[in-house]
Amino acid sequence: MDRLKGKVALISGGARGQGAAEARLFASEGAKMVIGDVRDDLLKATADAINAKAGATVARAVHLDVTRAADWRNAVETCEREFGGLDILVNNAGIANMKGLEQTSEEEWDAVVNVNQKGVWLGMKSTIPAMRKRGGGSIINISSIFGLIGSSGSTAYHGTKGAVRLLTKAAAVQYAPEKIRVNSIHPGLILTPMVEEAIPSQAELQPIVQMTPMGRGAKPEEVGMCVLFLASDESSFVTGAELAVDGGYSAQ
Ligand code: NAD
Repeated sequence: MDRLKGKVALISGGARGQGAAEARLFASEGAKMVIGDVRDDLLKATADAINAKAGATVARAVHLDVTRAADWRNAVETCEREFGGLDILVNNAGIANMKGLEQTSEEEWDAVVNVNQKGVWLGMKSTIPAMRKRGGGSIINISSIFGLIGSSGSTAYHGTKGAVRLLTKAAAVQYAPEKIRVNSIHPGLILTPMVEEAIPSQAELQPIVQMTPMGRGAKPEEVGMCVLFLASDESSFVTGAELAVDGGYSAQ
């Protein structure tokens, strides 16, 4: 019940999918949080549902486009003003693009890099000063199995998710002396709106399920439990680590 008691979190991409699942889980473990997203209406509905269940305002919704430094400043200021500080960042927001190398346009490349890679760096840059004031913190960057291994498409996505893996390790080394831990999570097939939109037909989804040793996709909460562990003090000596949450996909 109280694994995050007294902690304040900021979750990007919290309107739906894994980010929303993490927000619900964090609230059930005693955290207060700001959730940010570009889908404002859905984001508000997610925060309202969390607050209704908690019977108090434990989640504040703020418009956060992770590519904009001003939005990050506002999100961090909201954490400090409403909840007294910031201890945990989940860099969860991301966009998919399944196109291959020659099929990817320069505009698509820039859009994916801006959200998935620049957004993660800006998130860390914007929140570390607030964590420093608290004497430490925990950052969880959501990469992908596509940040660990290759496939025949998703070129820009692979590039950005691979970058997140090493951005994480570099930040872990730089900020270890300040007790700010930084780890990456590498989800496999997680059944969220992103997958429903990118892979709408069962015919396209089934081969990915079959390539997963556990033979299924996961619920977003199954990633959320791992994020919760890395966010909490239970992982106090874990930094610079990469955790595959993929039913064995990347072990083959
Ligand atoms: P999702 O599309 O359901 O949720 C992603 C959220 O990010 C959405 O609410 C979206 O509005 C938000 N977002 C997009 N651009 C944004 C921006 N510029 N600023 C702020 N928010 C923005 O997807 P999901 O499956 O929950 O994905 C969460 C993370 O997990 C992503 O980083 C994704 O790349 C990663 N991931 C997902 C899978 C999967 O199978 N679903 C696998 C590996 C990695």
